[in-house]
Amino acid sequence: MTIPFDNSFAALPPDFYTKTAPTPVQAPEMLAWNDALADSLGVTDPDADVFGGNRVPDGAEPLAQLYSGHQFGNYNPQLGDGRAILLGEVLDHTGSRRDIQLKGSGPTPYSRMGDGRAWLGPVLREYVISEAMHALGIPTTRALAAVKTGQAVVREQGPLPGAVLTRVAASHLRVGTFQIFAHRGEIDALATLTDYSIARHHPEADGPLGLLSAVCAAQADLVAAWMSVGFIHGVMNTDNCTISGETIDYGPCAFMDAYHEGRVFSSIDQMGRYAYGNQPRIAVWNMAQLATALIQLFDDKEAAVAQATEIVHAMPDQIQAAWLQRFGAKIGLPDAGTDDISLIEDLLTLMQADGADFTNTFADLGSDKARDHFLQRDAFDAWDTRRKERIGVDASDIMARANPQIIPRNHQIEAMITAAVDGDMGPFQRLMQALSRPFDRDPQFDDLRRPPTEQEIVPATFCGT
Ligand code: AMP
Ligand code: MG
Repeated sequence: MTIPFDNSFAALPPDFYTKTAPTPVQAPEMLAWNDALADSLGVTDPDADVFGGNRVPDGAEPLAQLYSGHQFGNYNPQLGDGRAILLGEVLDHTGSRRDIQLKGSGPTPYSRMGDGRAWLGPVLREYVISEAMHALGIPTTRALAAVKTGQAVVREQGPLPGAVLTRVAASHLRVGTFQIFAHRGEIDALATLTDYSIARHHPEADGPLGLLSAVCAAQADLVAAWMSVGFIHGVMNTDNCTISGETIDYGPCAFMDAYHEGRVFSSIDQMGRYAYGNQPRIAVWNMAQLATALIQLFDDKEAAVAQATEIVHAMPDQIQAAWLQRFGAKIGLPDAGTDDISLIEDLLTLMQADGADFTNTFADLGSDKARDHFLQRDAFDAWDTRRKERIGVDASDIMARANPQIIPRNHQIEAMITAAVDGDMGPFQRLMQALSRPFDRDPQFDDLRRPPTEQEIVPATFCGT
């Protein structure tokens, strides 16, 4: 078993982390292994001892990272990896640096009241949804392995089977990583972190404000991509907002079935702060927090505030441009402009009024089946006539690349978890296979494309804790 580690974060000053090893588990058993990803990382074999946390592989320098963050808008001065341990980094076959992290690997100095563990449900949820996002072409952390620990984890629902996820990411640097040093007034550490982040993720960026621009651009694209597939992140706290622009932290996230702008799944999001339609605003809010942290690096704060404000204020237009590109393609327009916003929004309004399924409505656009998703069929026909007049040409190729046929539906995820708890990994394997080619319409997976019936609807999702 070899992992070609090439660690850089562990060489940063010791106030960025605490060196700490995973806590061994009773009976590690490999449940899921991502062969293609392993190959691309140069990781040779699915060793349950390594990915369950029982053996630290050669070259690893296990550590828990320090960060803070705003949770639901309130600043928490210290978070940090409470249930995750970074083993180290590798350079993948394209030369990109990737973190290899165990999640659910036991307590760390940042665990606070938590046990540092995860149960099988959220581990397999993250595995399936993050890999589905990757297949959809959306920047995301990846899943390399899921190992059952053989130990129970106690949650509100009682004892549940424990598991460890191996997460692979461009890095685990977050807005919260910057916030902790800014809030503590540790300006040297903040400067070191800024240089490290520029070198690792945005080498073209010029200084702290260049970094801010680059992260704003990456987050603007990301949130537009989420919107375009009906994805609701659920916990867009600043500690769950990456500097790389990858989606991270698949806790109470979900893909929408019936379209509604105000849709919320997370059981703890009572105010709807992270509702589907609020996500663009929150992405901007998160970048304002990054800006606030980075401003601490400047002597002339007034000038820095003015420049940073301009950068953050440019973001809504960037998000709208990316949104237009994506939603334009979804209705068959390769070059949507602001004149097309009303055409797109009129469809969404109609979908919302009629409870149309987000994924399947777009997947069927351009065919006779599209109108079946609506109660107001005449209204849809009138809209579709406008669409055809606007696009003029056959747009089926553009639409086929923009509209997935299959997404990980909540009720299928829940059914997969129930089966896995009973020892049946069949539904997991099948979901993974179906979601690996989301733009193909494969009849053998028609049942997985179906929206939930009234009885099957999963109204809320819960955090992984
Ligand atoms: P999250 O909601 O997953 O972003 O986690 C927020 C914070 O809570 C992070 O600092 C986590 O490391 C910590 N945390 C979540 N679950 C646990 C757990 N079971 N044990 C220890 N810390 C946890
Ligand atoms: Mg988190």
